[in-house]
Amino acid sequence: MTVSVVDVVDFRKTYGDFVAVDGISFDVRRGEIFGLLGPNGAGKTTTLECLEGLRAPDGGSLRVAGIDPVREPHRLRGVIGVQLQSAGLPDSITPGEAMRLFCAYRGVAPRFDLLARLGLSEKRDAQYHTLSGGQQRRLALALAVANDPMVLFLDEPTAGLDVPSRVELHNLMNELRTAGTTIILATHDMAEAEEMSDRVAILLEGSIAAVGTPREITATGAGLTKVSVRTQGASLSGPDTTFPAVRRAVHEGDYSIFFSTDIGPTVAAIITHVEAIDDSLIDLRVERPSLEDRFLEITDSANAEGI
Ligand code: ATP
Repeated sequence: MTVSVVDVVDFRKTYGDFVAVDGISFDVRRGEIFGLLGPNGAGKTTTLECLEGLRAPDGGSLRVAGIDPVREPHRLRGVIGVQLQSAGLPDSITPGEAMRLFCAYRGVAPRFDLLARLGLSEKRDAQYHTLSGGQQRRLALALAVANDPMVLFLDEPTAGLDVPSRVELHNLMNELRTAGTTIILATHDMAEAEEMSDRVAILLEGSIAAVGTPREITATGAGLTKVSVRTQGASLSGPDTTFPAVRRAVHEGDYSIFFSTDIGPTVAAIITHVEAIDDSLIDLRVERPSLEDRFLEITDSANAEGI
């Protein structure tokens, strides 16, 4: 049986007259990584902040591990970990001191191993304001997971991280998930969301436009697969060159790109055509539609409808 750890029912949040989140519902199951996606201003941070007990909702119901974040903020603090977009630590605190203080506050032993794991050993005694942006984010992450939270909230965790730190963060997230931690991840990085999330919700102007596994969400789109082909000669560049199942073709640099609903007949016909006129293939790549393609499709159609 799947157990939901985060329950959001008809959640609404306004700032004055402005409706930032307009009655959304979703649940997140134990041990799941749940991606919260959406363009700037969609309501992701507002939703996270209400779940974290930092803001009070104006309607609906929120539960995190069965706890109402507004009524029981102290209990909530014992079960969640939060990596904020900005950690807001004092300038002069060092990572070592921050870890010691934070863990003392939570009543757990300090996790200096996490500082080492996130590449902060050498900076353990450096003042916070001297850390680079990426190092400050890594410290925020180390503090967020130090109390072994049941639910971890990550807001843009990889923004500004270099490639090794990003890989380390993803490894850590996978380990936490395996250990049963539930992770809610707000991100603009579609490749990250697709790779890491078990399910995602796409928020648009305070409403949920789509929810499901990345595969389910990409499957409900136009579903055009991209076939990029480069040939020695100009056999594909003619305006009248058409192939079965191709809905759209463009030419970019040395490549002819075909968007196909059925790659089997498309690729077979391209190869036959190239060989028939004594041209030769240099490169042929097939890319299935990505979550980013589907995300852009959803946001573009909402913009076109003036939502
Ligand atoms: P981003 O991707 O840019 O971080 P987001 O999806 O996290 O965006 P929110 O920060 O939740 O979006 O903001 C949702 C909407 O609510 C935005 O239009 C924002 O301007 C507005 N908003 C957020 N906080 C406040 C506030 N304290 N007062 C007034 N409006 C606010």
